[in-house]
Amino acid sequence: METVDLIIVHAAIVTMDKDLRMLDDHALVVQGNRIAAIEPSGAALAKYEGRKTIDGRDQFIFPGFINTHTHLFQSGLKGLGRDKPLYEWLDSSVRRALPHMVYENVYHAARAGCIENIRSGVTTVLDYMYAHCSQVGLDDAVFQAFDETGIRGILGRAHTNTASLPAGVTCPVNETEEMFFADVERLVEKARGHARISLAIAPGIIWDMDEQGYRRMRREADRHGIPITMHLDETHDDDEYALQRYGVSAAEVLDRNGVLGEDFIGVHLVHLSERTLELLAKRRIKVSHNPVSNMILASGVSPVGELKGLGLDISLGTDGAASNDSQNMLEVIKTAAILHKCIHQDAALLPAIDILKMATCEGAKVIGRGDELGSIEAGKRADFFLFDPRNIACVPVADPVSSLVYSSNPTAVQTVVIDGRVVMEQGKIGTLDEAAAIRDLQRSAYGLRQRAGLGNEINGRKVIVGPFTS
Ligand SMILES: [Zn+2]
Repeated sequence: METVDLIIVHAAIVTMDKDLRMLDDHALVVQGNRIAAIEPSGAALAKYEGRKTIDGRDQFIFPGFINTHTHLFQSGLKGLGRDKPLYEWLDSSVRRALPHMVYENVYHAARAGCIENIRSGVTTVLDYMYAHCSQVGLDDAVFQAFDETGIRGILGRAHTNTASLPAGVTCPVNETEEMFFADVERLVEKARGHARISLAIAPGIIWDMDEQGYRRMRREADRHGIPITMHLDETHDDDEYALQRYGVSAAEVLDRNGVLGEDFIGVHLVHLSERTLELLAKRRIKVSHNPVSNMILASGVSPVGELKGLGLDISLGTDGAASNDSQNMLEVIKTAAILHKCIHQDAALLPAIDILKMATCEGAKVIGRGDELGSIEAGKRADFFLFDPRNIACVPVADPVSSLVYSSNPTAVQTVVIDGRVVMEQGKIGTLDEAAAIRDLQRSAYGLRQRAGLGNEINGRKVIVGPFTS
């Protein structure tokens, strides 16, 4: 008998490999942080002894979801600026809070945000951290949350050009590009050798850097071998700004400075001209589609069918909790599945299996990790979850893929394994005290709202502020 770290036995496995195989009554064998073997349960039990064994009977193993866009610090800003379009929302939530945000605000928000991601089946999250207004070193709070919760994290280090902040928004930390690139370097070094944490460069939006900055960003990304991610064409403002300042579209500004490429993850991509679509396809950029956030802010609907028709890899993102009010990836998955059918009045558009690909194997390609993540195959990293359909929302199951996409919720995600470690088992987070994380976030978010003067009035309504405020 060979001793291995973990065996899940008697489970059905939805592999999401290139043949989309589904395997009944199989065992998934984990050694260290990798999937060592996938074999019929009987054969595996005769061959392997697990230091830990989980009975997966009546459950389905899926590859963990890859959430390619969020802002974890916003998990402390849920509920603010609702029922307002993008820029009014920014001015009544995120921008007001940023100058008052300290390390503990970002840490408590990121920690809770990671737990919420894990609870909806997410094993990898690409965070886009742009809360740099009040203190230096706040990215380390997200890093700490990744480390402690056990999630696989890509920390997108943003840069805010303080010269372009709107009037009335103060920003005590005036971060120069020099400081920004130095901090990217520091964080790349800090993540070096960490099994689960890596870096990305994430300029906020087209006006957050000038052309010289973009050229340097491309050189630095190449030097460190890390991806670039950026909000692009969420509204018409990107192109209007770029046309006025540069005489060409936002995508063309990026392209002429070498930014667009296979390691560029464009976020939102809602308002795309024919010319921009052609350019993005030519450069083989990657796409992060965030339908729930786009719907809440009424930004519009990304032409996902067209982007897919151009052969681009498309992934899904929750976006931050300030513009989604949740980190529930299952909600994003269902929304992506039904939104495009409705808009195009075509029920055959983007079937459940295509949406699941976006959340798993295609998502892995989007972050440049298709060889290691996104499917359940021997040799890949052990990132997966057990979907237990024995609850009233999911039962009966005719097809596990349809059940997961259309009929599930986070309570059906019972056990989550990331990098070979069981971070949640039978619904209980094992890496930290979740009840304390909930209390800490409520207190911390309340304090932040008070300091930012975002207190007890929402859209002209006096509101009560909720529990755990003292
Ligand atoms: Zn965003």
